[in-house]
Amino acid sequence: CGIVGYVGGQSALDVVLAGLKRLEYRGYDSAGVAVLADGGLAAAKKAGKLANLEKELADRPLPAGSTGIGHTRWATHGGPTDENAHPHLDNAGRVSVVHNGIIENFAGLRAELTDRGHELASETDTEVVAHLLAECYSSCGELAEAMRQVCRRLEGAFTLVAVHADEPEVVVGARRNSPLVVGVGDGEAFLASDVAAFIAHTREAIELGQDQVVELRREAVTVTDFDGAPAEVREYHVDWDASA
Ligand code: GLU
Repeated sequence: CGIVGYVGGQSALDVVLAGLKRLEYRGYDSAGVAVLADGGLAAAKKAGKLANLEKELADRPLPAGSTGIGHTRWATHGGPTDENAHPHLDNAGRVSVVHNGIIENFAGLRAELTDRGHELASETDTEVVAHLLAECYSSCGELAEAMRQVCRRLEGAFTLVAVHADEPEVVVGARRNSPLVVGVGDGEAFLASDVAAFIAHTREAIELGQDQVVELRREAVTVTDFDGAPAEVREYHVDWDASA
């Protein structure tokens, strides 16, 4: 339902949680975050309000990191449980993904992954993406390219945002039939399903087009289509008053 991604010099957890709060008005049934820190990936997710997630984070703090993603979920496949909340991880715990929308062909992909030895932990349509990204990453070695390869196999409507522990200063996003906006700051960059999530930090935005993949780094935003060709994007300044 709501998505936030961040790479920069601030605490990713603080930026992502504040962003998720700005998206609360959309409604949701669970929430979660993942942060890249100390060469690894740490995640927390909880059914219920963001306050439940914050309590979990107070009880079991995540290591501090400056790259992270977060999600508020409106369940479509699988009930609103802790396990079904996003982010979803691959079996090695190296890649993490959040998703808005519905992946129509997830059942076939799930069966294929199970045949190849993957163990899926949730009932969501989303989790297949984490496992597919891990497989593609191990052959191509680049998260943005892995995302393009995975997106070419997906049907339905999706906004996806992912991180990989081997690329600690990169956040990758993709979209088809579901919104995703980039916020460009000074030495930092944001991804969100709605500009409200990052308006407190920057008003320079890039609206992604249909079937595009974006790679975010602190100083660079690279957008391609699902085949890897450089893509046209619309840059704009958010001038409405979002403080209300
Ligand atoms: N279809 C996904 C799920 O049920 C994503 C739902 C959403 O857009 O929040 O987990």
